[in-house]
Amino acid sequence: MGIKIHKYDAVIVGAGLAGLAAAKELTEAGKKTAVITKLHPLRSHSGAAQGGINAALGADDSTELHEFDTVKGSDYLADQDCVELMCTKAPETIRWAERMGAVFSRNEEGNIAIRPFGGQSQPRACFAKDRTGLTLLQTIYEQADRAGIEVFDEWYCSDLIYEDGKVSGVVAYNIKDSEPAIFNAKVTMFATGGHGRAYRFNSNAHANTGDSLSIVARKGLPLEDMEFVQFHPSGLGGSGVLISEAARGEGGRLFNSEGERFMTKYAPNAMELASRDVVSRAIMEEVRQGRGVGKDGQSMNLDLTHLDPEIILTKLPELRELSIAFQGQDMLKEAIHISATAHYSMGGIPTNINCQVEKNGNKELVEGFYAAGECACVSVHGANRLGANSVLEAMLFGRHAGQNMIKAIDEGITLRPAKASDADDCVNEMNTLLTSNGKERVPGIREELQAGMTKNAGVFRSEESLKAQLVIIDDLLIRFKDIRIDDKSKTFNTDLQEATELGHMLEFSKFIVDGALNREESRGGHYREDFTTRNDEKFMKHTYAYMDKDFKMRSEWGEVTLGKFEPMERKY
Ligand SMILES: Cc1cc2nc3c(=O)[nH]c(=O)nc-3n(C[C@H](O)[C@H](O)[C@H](O)COP(=O)(O)OP(=O)(O)OC[C@H]3O[C@@H](n4cnc5c(N)ncnc54)[C@H](O)[C@@H]3O)c2cc1C
Repeated sequence: MGIKIHKYDAVIVGAGLAGLAAAKELTEAGKKTAVITKLHPLRSHSGAAQGGINAALGADDSTELHEFDTVKGSDYLADQDCVELMCTKAPETIRWAERMGAVFSRNEEGNIAIRPFGGQSQPRACFAKDRTGLTLLQTIYEQADRAGIEVFDEWYCSDLIYEDGKVSGVVAYNIKDSEPAIFNAKVTMFATGGHGRAYRFNSNAHANTGDSLSIVARKGLPLEDMEFVQFHPSGLGGSGVLISEAARGEGGRLFNSEGERFMTKYAPNAMELASRDVVSRAIMEEVRQGRGVGKDGQSMNLDLTHLDPEIILTKLPELRELSIAFQGQDMLKEAIHISATAHYSMGGIPTNINCQVEKNGNKELVEGFYAAGECACVSVHGANRLGANSVLEAMLFGRHAGQNMIKAIDEGITLRPAKASDADDCVNEMNTLLTSNGKERVPGIREELQAGMTKNAGVFRSEESLKAQLVIIDDLLIRFKDIRIDDKSKTFNTDLQEATELGHMLEFSKFIVDGALNREESRGGHYREDFTTRNDEKFMKHTYAYMDKDFKMRSEWGEVTLGKFEPMERKY
């Protein structure tokens, strides 16, 4: 039996906020669109977003202030044209979500409530209690479903069809029976989310394994700014499960084991609401100096007991439940233990302002290929993302990508017919994993990777630690070839899927480490102990990195789009 070839105007991989926003636009415009997702759409990590979504709605706020905070937060590495687009369209995006039916929390006057978040000079995070992402995801899914989107859920995308500078779809297999199919399309979009699972201590869902990054890189295409990983200040001490910045936004305070409110030393003005990189480093520094709390002394106290219990019960109910469930600590009664957790990836698949994927540092474009949301690097976050800017980015640029894809289709972009042999790499990869009988196991290699990434490429980095991590990854890449999975069947083979995902994690992790090694400065989320200051002269540049078939790295620099905000030192 030959391989099935589906034909579409558009194929989108990923059904989080970015993928669904694009799919809804395309379907409503009458374009035949397939959405491929390895999870049910409502299980996408977007649904875990707690704290909020930014828009300058406050009386004392402005879109320009939102832009400034974002650019400053990015440590001046964000592309300012993209930031301007995002911030000016943010209020309209909130109204779009609200008109679709998203129920935001309200203030006493009945307007959409806003709360303060880190690194922002005005309160501007709109929220639905502390379940903002879930509310938005459910709403957009319902409306996209009503528009008639076609979803292939529990389908795993494992390859991109790319030839002569043009993408013409993807190869995916049905997780139910491991049967592959080709999705041939005029335009293709990746919206596959983040890749925090490369770290041992992280806030991400199990599915956040960054598959699409290495799928793109295997085609010889670059990844941008991968060295910039965000460590969120407040993951629960034992697990890394996220306690949203909303906890500090509503007034939570940080204390070390000596009862000192230590942020006075690190960010005397913004205190707990300095940007995330600043607070995370402060926490880890206190731990290093022996002032940690908790069983292993690796955490800090986050105290909300001085707040009116009503605030916790009405605005942070889920955070309280998570702390009780995962740590047995009730924030109404005691301080909870938190520590910096790998949370968000600023880097990813490089795109221009219209979400079209770039093929090099000169920003030449791949034809018919788009990316948006956390897997993409458009770059609105530069070296550090501000809280509540990412759900905004996913919805806004997802929708924007959809509109640009419609335009490309209307302008007559052609469908290059796929051939059955386009699925060869997917089939070979699957067969190799199913039949190989080596002595290495997936969990073992994964744990070594994650432990090494947290230790050597985490909040603090140095030439020594990064070189050590490159040795670890190269060794694991070799050992991965000698892998064995026990389940040899083709029915819901999660062993197979996890092995495939591990292959991706090993590869894109090398981009993170290699980028961090080359960037001999400290900027935003990337902190080098051997180069502790920002060096604009040499490194006010985007990294575009490539990997060859033997996993050797090469990189070049790309220009940052500057604008009205002159780079200055970042102080909070
Ligand atoms: C715990 C937590 C809380 C957060 N809170 C906030 C917040 O309050 N505010 C904020 O702005 N940001 C927050 N973020 C970040 C934000 O939620 C994400 O960056 C954003 O939602 C990403 O959306 P997305 O559409 O790009 O990806 P996701 O929602 O992660 O969706 C990814 C999709 O890709 C699919 N996929 C991936 N790989 C494959 C494959 N190989 N084959 C098929 N399908 C695939 C998945 O099935 C999924 O549907 C939070 C993140 C976390 C982890």
